[in-house]
Amino acid sequence: MLKENLDKVLENIAKACERSGRKPSDVKLLAVSKTKPESDIMELYDASYRFFGENYVQELVGKIEDLPKDIEWHMIGHLQRNKVKYIVGKVAMIHSVESKALAEQISRLSEANGLVTDVLVEVNVAEEESKFGVSCDMLEDFLREIAQLKGIRVKGLMTSAPFTENAEENRKYFRKLNKLMVDINLKNIDNISMSELSMGMTNDYEVAVEEGATIVRVGTAIFGARNYKN
Ligand SMILES: *Cc1c(COP(=O)(O)O)cnc(C)c1O
Repeated sequence: MLKENLDKVLENIAKACERSGRKPSDVKLLAVSKTKPESDIMELYDASYRFFGENYVQELVGKIEDLPKDIEWHMIGHLQRNKVKYIVGKVAMIHSVESKALAEQISRLSEANGLVTDVLVEVNVAEEESKFGVSCDMLEDFLREIAQLKGIRVKGLMTSAPFTENAEENRKYFRKLNKLMVDINLKNIDNISMSELSMGMTNDYEVAVEEGATIVRVGTAIFGARNYKN
């Protein structure tokens, strides 16, 4: 059943790619499994799916320990500096870098382990007060500040657009994140060459793909509504 949901989302991504002249293979779908049981993840794993996103460090670490080692995990939630040590070396990418202190901590612990960690910089494109992320105005300075850190590789940008029933309302934010990436790349900042755009969730991933998303993060459409009381 979950596999059917996943296939439906993949099909919608393929159609959005077709509409916008892109290749489906250029878009990675992360199945966002936060709050969902390991059995749900295994249902998709057994159907050959390997790309999962999680938000909470403790939950993520538990799942990594329990589940097969060839799953590709992405940390997409807000990350506190003191918790970086639990996930460095265990995740393929950290999507939520939004402070210099956090970037430094990821870099330091990665270097100590002989690793370079792929990261995305979270941008608060819609400038919502409740959201984490670097503001658009500060992005270039922020990238220049973290560009020399040896234990991280900045692969691109991530955003969580506002919650809306009407995905079209978020198109402008996705377009803006894409433009920010293009503009920054044109500045040829040493060590900064970005290609990934992590944007789009259950309500708006198709529009995000039309606007250039290379990673979409979809939970509810695959696993059903979340119950945070569990
Ligand atoms: C929960 C979450 C998602 C998935 O949200 P859905 O609306 O369930 O698809 C994506 N990105 C982030 C950062 C999340 O916290």
